[in-house]
Amino acid sequence: MSILSIASNASAWRGYEYYEGKRVISWNQMDKHEFEGTVRGSGKEPYHVMIDTEHPKKSTCNCPHAEGKRIVCKHKIALFFTVFPKEADRYIAEIEEYEREEGEREQEHYDQIVRYVKSLSKEELRTALINALIEAEERDRYR
Ligand SMILES: [Zn+2]
Repeated sequence: MSILSIASNASAWRGYEYYEGKRVISWNQMDKHEFEGTVRGSGKEPYHVMIDTEHPKKSTCNCPHAEGKRIVCKHKIALFFTVFPKEADRYIAEIEEYEREEGEREQEHYDQIVRYVKSLSKEELRTALINALIEAEERDRYR
């Protein structure tokens, strides 16, 4: 279980942006699975971050969001990506792949609707349009 898999989507994405923006000022390896680093946040003082890749929930950060909690904040993710840039590459490749597939699904759905409408006769079109208008009106009324 990687620290990335227990992060929220928002923290993972913001952490990636921090990694890209080179907000990890410095880091070093403390132990086989432990890394510490200094990450520039939105405040004046940088945050002190420690990640444990074997036990991700033991990772710490002194930002207001994560201090004293087991929350995986963007600073932990930024440090993780800085230490393991290949993980960052894999993460962004997955996001891009998902977005490409999502775009294809939307296009396919649109094409289906176009095919359906083109297959209708004039009479069927009239009925379908009337029904759609009535449904839209009822949706508005009961919203
Ligand atoms: Zn933090």
